Amino acid sequence: MKLPFQIDLNDKVVVITGAGGLICSAFAEAMAMCGAKVALLDLNEEAAKKYADEIVAKGYKAKGYKCNVLEKDSCEAARAEILKDFGTCDILINGAGGNNPKATTDDEYFQPEHLNEMKTFFDLDPQGVSFVFNLNFMGTLIPTQVFALDMMNKKGASIINISSMNAYSPLTKIPAYSGAKSAISNFTQWLAVHFSKVGIRCNGIAPGFFSTQQNAKLLWNEDGTPTARTEKILAGTPMGRFGELEELIGSLLFLTCEEASGFVNGTVIPVDGAFAAYSGV
Ligand code: NAD
Repeated sequence: MKLPFQIDLNDKVVVITGAGGLICSAFAEAMAMCGAKVALLDLNEEAAKKYADEIVAKGYKAKGYKCNVLEKDSCEAARAEILKDFGTCDILINGAGGNNPKATTDDEYFQPEHLNEMKTFFDLDPQGVSFVFNLNFMGTLIPTQVFALDMMNKKGASIINISSMNAYSPLTKIPAYSGAKSAISNFTQWLAVHFSKVGIRCNGIAPGFFSTQQNAKLLWNEDGTPTARTEKILAGTPMGRFGELEELIGSLLFLTCEEASGFVNGTVIPVDGAFAAYSGV
């Protein structure tokens, strides 16, 4: 990875949840390249360790840990391990999150003839909806309870949450994920206020649409032409293209750099080619 610019995170301990995933493994590498000791936490221990090993192989400091962000005991166990390995947390990145098919409708717009023909709003599984709400919201709140206790009045202490385009206006089909990410943007503001007297800043990043290996089948036909969904996304993105993962890194570096953003608190930066700003007309 090539950093857009360098910041100094020497001696800082960065804890990242969901770091076995696509975005947060890239965040982990970027933080490590700035000199931080990076703890990669994920339910998928193998993925967290694999990415950590890759970072270490490049000459930086990192270690992978198993952690379920929905269980306080699991977060506390990870905290104890990190304390032994690296010390107390300076920067917490709450990246674990995602959607689930059980909380997704098949149709964009409800029509009575859809009943019994496809999964409509009326068929959404309440447990699936709770799962998505919990993963995104409680999965941010619980690690913050565990790690922020160590961050009080530490120079450069900062929390970064990951919101989404859904927070600005909901995307069709995914009401639980949309509501949960909206809650994340709101919680980011709440935390910024709540921790303002103890020197912990809290900001967020809201990624727009990124074409990655994971969603390739949804976005591109086998012959390389765009799917209908891609056409819709690009029509809604005034810059007319997908983002590149590296394009999230500049906002991360800015928000975690005390010298650059020391008075920036309670914001969520959309990195979206103006998707959130566009009314469609
Ligand atoms: P990803 O699926 O690649 O990574 C998510 C990671 O979270 C996975 O490694 C998964 O194992 C982990 N995870 C799931 N449940 C967990 C739990 N209970 N405890 C600990 N870890 C758990 O997804 P990504 O695309 O890298 O997304 C990272 C964050 O960015 C998520 O919060 C996602 O909602 C958000 N986001 C992604 C996009 C996008 O286009 N990919 C856009 C907007 C927001």
